[in-house]
Amino acid sequence: MNNSKIYLSLGMQSGFEKEYISKALDDNWITSGGPNVDNFENELQNYLGENSFVTALNSGTSAIHLALILLGVEKGDEVICQTMTFSASANPILYQGAIPVFIDSEQETWNICPEKLEIAIKDRIKKGKKPKAIIAVHLYGNPYKVDEIHAVADRYQIPIIEDSAEALGSSYKGKKCGTFGILGVLSFNGNKIITTSSGGALISNSKEFKEKAIFYATQSKDDTVHYQHSEIGYNYRMSNICAGVGLGQMKILEGNVIKRRENYNFYKEIFKEIAAVELFEVLNEDYFSSYWLNTILINTENSDKNTENLRLALEAKNIESRPLWKPMHLQPIFKKYPYYGTTVAENLFKKGLCLPSGSNLTMYDKNRIREVITTFFK
Ligand SMILES: *Cc1c(COP(=O)(O)O)cnc(C)c1O
Repeated sequence: MNNSKIYLSLGMQSGFEKEYISKALDDNWITSGGPNVDNFENELQNYLGENSFVTALNSGTSAIHLALILLGVEKGDEVICQTMTFSASANPILYQGAIPVFIDSEQETWNICPEKLEIAIKDRIKKGKKPKAIIAVHLYGNPYKVDEIHAVADRYQIPIIEDSAEALGSSYKGKKCGTFGILGVLSFNGNKIITTSSGGALISNSKEFKEKAIFYATQSKDDTVHYQHSEIGYNYRMSNICAGVGLGQMKILEGNVIKRRENYNFYKEIFKEIAAVELFEVLNEDYFSSYWLNTILINTENSDKNTENLRLALEAKNIESRPLWKPMHLQPIFKKYPYYGTTVAENLFKKGLCLPSGSNLTMYDKNRIREVITTFFK
């Protein structure tokens, strides 16, 4: 029988991608920016809802970098960041020569902890520096505690950059993730819920931010006939070909969310019989998750039925799984920076595993996955 590799997170095509790309080629719009880019931005704006201004860029990482620039983050400034995340959330802080201040997770959404956040802000202010921005992440498609986190940020008037790279299609109290902060970030990397092969977007709540983001993303050209530059420029705009892929992908965004949530139901069914395993579930109805990745914690003290052995058992059957993100404050590159918290994120990392969650999983794939998991826990 077919034993092809089952990946952690792959997408699928709507079939329309080729048409948009062909049209761009036929019209000789092989450029950065162009009609596909404008249309892709408009479709995203319609999807995200009123008052979202979208700038399409060449990656989610570029979007975070531009968000920091737009908020005036400079050398020596401090920026707060959730520790439990992918390094791309934090790296742009270093691009600016700024100082990351990492915050632990809370148990319920695994995202930035409101209490630790407030403790950190107070302490940084006491030490003489108010943080310039907060990067909060909707990890694995699961919304962070939006009300609590934004209440703390508002109290100290610190803007939030909402890293929604993993959470396009998720929402909180009916409002789409990516639209709560002053600036939000999306990624269309190959493993995300929709892809442009490589790409990202900056979401903002004002037209001025969008115009300024395009200015920086296209080499900061002043308004002159000759090329004149008064500010540092970047080459961060999305290409018209990539945006063609994005337009094709928009047709299946909603379908992908449904498929990923079906994957979640599939795992729920398997794990309801297995006491040692806790499948991540949202806290209550306020939280709507795309379940971009399904994640589990294995609560085994001294047993060989642990996370690493399950990973190996899956790997032996050509099925990919992966530990949760290793927290940033434990990373060699970031460990010298301030950290506020205990061991919540660290324990999640030790006990957690991400399971195959692609929009392309078939019944046959799911049966293979089920077989390995149920045998392993027998
Ligand atoms: C993927 C990802 C990014 C970066 O997006 P790229 O498009 O790969 O640059 C940022 N933050 C998080 C949480 C991500 O998962």
